[in-house]
Amino acid sequence: MVRVSELVLRSTRVITPEGTRAASVAVAGGTITAVLPHDADASPGARIEDLGDDVLLPGLVDTHVHINEPGRSEWEGFRTATRAAAAGGITTLIDMPLNSLPPTTTVDHLRTKQEAAARAIHVDVGFWGGALPGNAGDLRPLHDAGVFGFKAFLSPSGVTEFPHLDQEQLARTLAEITGFGGLLLVHAEDPHQLAAAPRQGGPKYADFLAGRPRAAETTAVAHLLAQAKRLHARVHVLHLSSGDALPLIAAARAEGLPITVETCPHYLTLSAEEVPDGASAFKCCPPIREAANQEPLWQALADGTIDCVVTDHSPSTADLKTADFATAWGGISGLQLSLPVVWTEARRRGHGLDDVARWMSTRTARLAGLDRKGAIEAGRDADFAVLAPDETFTVDPAALHHRNQVTAYAGRTLYGVVKSAWLRGERIVADGEFTEPKGRLLRRTG
Ligand SMILES: [Zn+2]
Repeated sequence: MVRVSELVLRSTRVITPEGTRAASVAVAGGTITAVLPHDADASPGARIEDLGDDVLLPGLVDTHVHINEPGRSEWEGFRTATRAAAAGGITTLIDMPLNSLPPTTTVDHLRTKQEAAARAIHVDVGFWGGALPGNAGDLRPLHDAGVFGFKAFLSPSGVTEFPHLDQEQLARTLAEITGFGGLLLVHAEDPHQLAAAPRQGGPKYADFLAGRPRAAETTAVAHLLAQAKRLHARVHVLHLSSGDALPLIAAARAEGLPITVETCPHYLTLSAEEVPDGASAFKCCPPIREAANQEPLWQALADGTIDCVVTDHSPSTADLKTADFATAWGGISGLQLSLPVVWTEARRRGHGLDDVARWMSTRTARLAGLDRKGAIEAGRDADFAVLAPDETFTVDPAALHHRNQVTAYAGRTLYGVVKSAWLRGERIVADGEFTEPKGRLLRRTG
């Protein structure tokens, strides 16, 4: 029996798994109970929110976010990051295991992170664990404690407390994780190729780019795929920036390897040619590459070789974003702007919001095994983003909610104004006004 609905969200454009259509979405107890015709009668007493022609999307699920609390809370915290997320239409995020102190590499550390997050989160938050040399014994307990999978680096991470795995350590880690049915996420750049690349400090972006060559990604992906094939392991390639690795990935998938791949808004929309010298707001690793490299990334999104788009929101304080690309902190803050940034370029290329929802909500929810998130259909959480897709705005850093208002998108005019976000049937932000935090801590259930 269908439960009596308490709330009905009505829009001429609802993004459902079957396509975009006019519909009324019935909600009870925080769950979507039915997707009904636009003119369907609501249950007696149900509150009706008529969104007109604004688009109702499933709340976005961002599976790659660095929240630096505790330990480096001045870089980012749970309250500020989740406000930025909500303002950008993201209703679920999964926190990366590094850049906080402690990193999420033991169950005790996970508890510390969860305590820091509790009561401060405006959206739902889950955690990835970290795989380090020497913590193989912590992985199974972390898995049992509810982390969604494990992140490892194949090259230096940027922080000393999170060392990378060599090939032998990767093999052992992958065997351990595969043994209990877990998922390994990998930052794939080859340390030897990075070490051999020209290394010059200074403000020139071209010098920085030359120090992080595409070949380093291709080699690391090749090594990872070879190891994954041996064990038929479930692996996920983080923040792919180079189109050169795509044929390897497509071939491995054609052979049946259960591999998934993500890329980020900045690789899809920003190019090396336009980065001003000294503008380390654009610095991240792997780097933003040449404009010509964007074509294969978009093609791979269109044909499914790349599964999803995540922010890799990785902020620091402004003073660490120095004009020297060699020493400036590497990381781009994208939480609040990822939807309009991706949508602006997607629409120009002829994609629809159903594509954007698939890349930024459905597929990311699936990556994390979040079967109550990622789609507008009966039985899922009533998490939504309401978007005015044809309205534009110009990015003003002062309007960003993340802790340090550093952005690579300042001054850009973007399509897509997020009007509101909803979490389990409650509006958590509307036109920049937030409710009290209503987010919950999430644990892996699958
Ligand atoms: Zn990251």
